[in-house]
Amino acid sequence: MRLFVDWDGTVTVGDSLVQVIHEFGDPALLAELEPRVGVDLTLHEEIALEFRAVTAPLAEVVDWVLEHVEVRPGLRELAELRPVVVSAGFVELIEPVLGREGIELEVLANRVEASPHGWRVHFRDEAACATCGEPCKRGGLAGEPYVYVGDGYSDRCAALAAERVFARDSLAAYLGEKGVPFEPFDDLLGVASLLCT
Ligand SMILES: [Mg+2]
Ligand SMILES: [Zn+2]
Repeated sequence: MRLFVDWDGTVTVGDSLVQVIHEFGDPALLAELEPRVGVDLTLHEEIALEFRAVTAPLAEVVDWVLEHVEVRPGLRELAELRPVVVSAGFVELIEPVLGREGIELEVLANRVEASPHGWRVHFRDEAACATCGEPCKRGGLAGEPYVYVGDGYSDRCAALAAERVFARDSLAAYLGEKGVPFEPFDDLLGVASLLCT
């Protein structure tokens, strides 16, 4: 079965977008906008607005990310199952971390254009999802059945359409509230071994 994994908070220990905003952007803006997602802002609108406040050169941010963004144990073992990374983040900040780990995976994510006037996000898929009403990860995964591994808001709709879900953090809480079955995970070694049995 196809395997899709979220990036931030799923492959990585923390949310690298949040970490980058705290280091290079405007944390107060993040605090103001984050609770509005799903209320009067889409996730894409939130991300676009938050990264307009980042003006550092891409190379500087990539260096910082390579130094600070940690991946969960078991990424190498999970990578052997050839998952596709599906992220609301940026290819430009994901691929260098995979490279650091010596891993090559397909990445479905947005693109970012760094500028001293504020980073501009180019979203991979702007079509509103028929199920949740905003652009989301689900549309890109449609077709054959899949397993989904995720942790957060951006994973909700895609997880609901999966055959099997591994969830942690707020995605686990959301699925739990909805009474949707999922398998909790902490590191990726556990996910890889459960998928292999
Ligand atoms: Mg995430
Ligand atoms: Zn959706």
